[in-house]
Amino acid sequence: MSTAYFCFHEHFSHATGDDHPEHALRITAIENALKQSGLWDKLTICESGPAKRSDILRAHSPGYVEQLDMIQPQHGRIYVDEDTPMSPGSLEAAYYSAGAAVEAVDAVLNGQFRNAFVATRPPGHHAEHKRSMGFCFFNNIAVAALRAAEAHHLQRIAILDFDAHQGNGTIDILQNDVRFLLCSTFQHPFYPYSHYESNKYNNLVNGYLSAGAGSRDFRDAVLNCWAEPLRRFAPELIIVSAGFDAHYEDPMAELCLVDEDYRWIAQWISHVTDSRNTPWLALLEGGYDLNALGRSANEFIGVMLEQGHGD
Ligand SMILES: [Zn+2]
Repeated sequence: MSTAYFCFHEHFSHATGDDHPEHALRITAIENALKQSGLWDKLTICESGPAKRSDILRAHSPGYVEQLDMIQPQHGRIYVDEDTPMSPGSLEAAYYSAGAAVEAVDAVLNGQFRNAFVATRPPGHHAEHKRSMGFCFFNNIAVAALRAAEAHHLQRIAILDFDAHQGNGTIDILQNDVRFLLCSTFQHPFYPYSHYESNKYNNLVNGYLSAGAGSRDFRDAVLNCWAEPLRRFAPELIIVSAGFDAHYEDPMAELCLVDEDYRWIAQWISHVTDSRNTPWLALLEGGYDLNALGRSANEFIGVMLEQGHGD
């Protein structure tokens, strides 16, 4: 068994502009870090294709998907919300991003790999059932989770989201569907200022972090908030919304995690998944300081490889 890295060149055609934080060099930074550390050569690199419309439509309304087709510009750039630019290649990139998530789900569930990291771009966890938001068009994580539930007939899929921002889109799409347990840690109060509180939904576990929170607060939130619900849920698959923007060097949030925290969370997930041999995959969400993103993803993926090679 080994670890797969799913990627696609088409994300380069999602041209957000030189001054936008969510740009193509984010993926380059991760891949350069993996090459410098020597981990790249240990990964199985999988170039993935676009998602089928039927996979997207499990998570998004047909009218929303048609609307994206209609508004895509022929040249230049439009904004689908105040933060989210769309260029002539953005929709193609969004289909590839969701497609990579779908292929990774199929691969880990078919036993081809122990685990997989997916270089999703554009990211997904802010995209709602009928709305683009926060750099996201299609909710890659919900597309992946619904693929696992409906094409592979899984009954219990856990989603772990440690991005600095709450994954409002994932909750919008999967709220109160007991096939899914949604566990997250995020800065609060903070963007996207949604009001998804744990006690109002029967499948939602929130670990709130105050501005300035660091390693200890993050680790305590995971251990105190996620561990017991996750143990009781006994997931058949874990999908991680892996956002690296809670790092202290990241300009997009006010949390203070360090590189080692991303190694720690990967080790924690490895431990959880070792006990039942649970397949798992991680999808890239945020992470906007190129150096911190590269180092943090390298730490995280290094642990995935250790687990993959340990089997
Ligand atoms: Zn984020």
